[in-house]
Amino acid sequence: MTATGPADALVFMGGTFDPVHNGHLRTALEIQQWMGVEQVCLIPSKVPVHREQPGCSSEQRLAMVGLAVEHEPALRVDAREVLSDQPSYSLLTLQSLRAEIGPARPLCMVLGMDAYLGLASWHGWEQLPDYCHIIVVCRPGYVYEPDERMRRFLRAHETRSLGTVLGLPCGHVLMHELTPLSISATQIRQLVAKGLSPRYLCPDPVWHYMQQHKLYVIEEDS
Ligand code: ATP
Ligand code: MG
Repeated sequence: MTATGPADALVFMGGTFDPVHNGHLRTALEIQQWMGVEQVCLIPSKVPVHREQPGCSSEQRLAMVGLAVEHEPALRVDAREVLSDQPSYSLLTLQSLRAEIGPARPLCMVLGMDAYLGLASWHGWEQLPDYCHIIVVCRPGYVYEPDERMRRFLRAHETRSLGTVLGLPCGHVLMHELTPLSISATQIRQLVAKGLSPRYLCPDPVWHYMQQHKLYVIEEDS
């Protein structure tokens, strides 16, 4: 087996990023520094057209993530889900990433606690550790309260060692505490819909893009 090291791990965070905000960005940056990897990759999901926010397309969410990471070498955006013809299933994305990096490199998927708590509803969720490690980060307002199924999953996969994750290609779940930031995309959409500014919750270029494209604004019926 090829030797692996911290620089070899591919670490990514998926999400709708509707819009991307400082909770995502700070999380990704702290993960990058803690794991000692070169970059963390943000992968916006494709949202079926009928479920998109009025006026905000997958391409616009992708563009906002691009603007958010433009001047941060530790973060990058990957357009594979938005550009794909297939629905955004994490399992498909993991298979595509794994095919790209080969069997030996660690592949790590970062999930906020809210996403982790809903993991058992994901397509093929029990196979996820066959492809990657799962790094679970805290999210204000979400307490780890697993049901029996999730408890069994964690018993089978949990590690407390970053070294284990960085030394193996996949198979483990590692929980990590970082700066808790109580920011959500829902909150930003609600602020904008009320005509209030989301400034300092997301990067200025993202806010400018939202204004330019009138995203999340509720049109008054007159
Ligand atoms: P929405 O309110 O629309 O659900 P969101 O803020 O939850 O948006 P998502 O795109 O749904 O953002 O989340 C993508 C990933 O980022 C998920 O794993 C989620 O748990 C994580 N995440 C989002 N916001 C934070 C935050 N403030 N702190 C830590 N993790 C976060
Ligand atoms: Mg969410």
